[in-house]
Amino acid sequence: ELEGEVDKRDFGNWLHEVLNHFHAALKAAPTPDRRVRAAMISIASEQATHAMGLSEADFLPFAAAWPAVREGYLDWLSAHEADEGAVFEQAEPRLEQPLDDVRLVGRLDRIDRLQADGRAYVIDYKTESLDSSKQRVKEPFEDTQLAFYAALLDEDTLRAAYVNVGEKASGTQTVEQTEVVAARDALVEGILHDLRRIGEGAAMPALGEGAVCEFCAARGLCRKDFWSDDAAPLCTPSGRVTQPPEGEAGRLRGGQAAAEDTPPGLEGRS
Ligand code: SF4
Repeated sequence: ELEGEVDKRDFGNWLHEVLNHFHAALKAAPTPDRRVRAAMISIASEQATHAMGLSEADFLPFAAAWPAVREGYLDWLSAHEADEGAVFEQAEPRLEQPLDDVRLVGRLDRIDRLQADGRAYVIDYKTESLDSSKQRVKEPFEDTQLAFYAALLDEDTLRAAYVNVGEKASGTQTVEQTEVVAARDALVEGILHDLRRIGEGAAMPALGEGAVCEFCAARGLCRKDFWSDDAAPLCTPSGRVTQPPEGEAGRLRGGQAAAEDTPPGLEGRS
């Protein structure tokens, strides 16, 4: 079992790379054969290790966890394809969506296509505890990550889920956000409302709380550390919110963010 946040984060990054290589290979040469898939994912693991410049010693902390993760993921994939009729479509697409005077920008882990009705199925891989993933979907209107990803697609209706790739007996599990369309609509409405108010000169109180602020690239800019209940409100009338640098997590409003997430964001139209 991996211990410590750094190990887990490294493992998460490596695993994302493995799954990207694996699904690219599987898309190029589709097969339901479990043994062939196992061989493909093993090759993908070597490609990811090489691509990330990891030595055998670097890989050592992952080596013990990998066989169980690999088998759990392949089990999950077969069930996901059979139960949902989902087919892998693309990995890590960088998407943009114009919204009023700004562009929404983000990189998704993966998009599948549902054969039954043609809807997109947005997937975000998580290597955190299963409880943490379940916690994310409890309050749909606080689950801004999947809502934001949904806003990046051109499609009115879609499905979206966290896929918790576990190293424990629980294996890989889907944690679906069943209210993603309503959450997306509310998020877009909220962004438009906030941008309108910012344009009118409204103050921008620092709304983030807890762990999200520790990883946020905008810390300092929001002056959270200088706010108090009776402090005079700050005013940022430019209405321009920039995308945080890749690799650091940030959220527009409250909620949680994990260190391995690539953050979505807003960019002023150029
Ligand atoms: S999430 Fe970022 S921008 Fe929001 S209050 Fe925390 S540090 Fe500031």
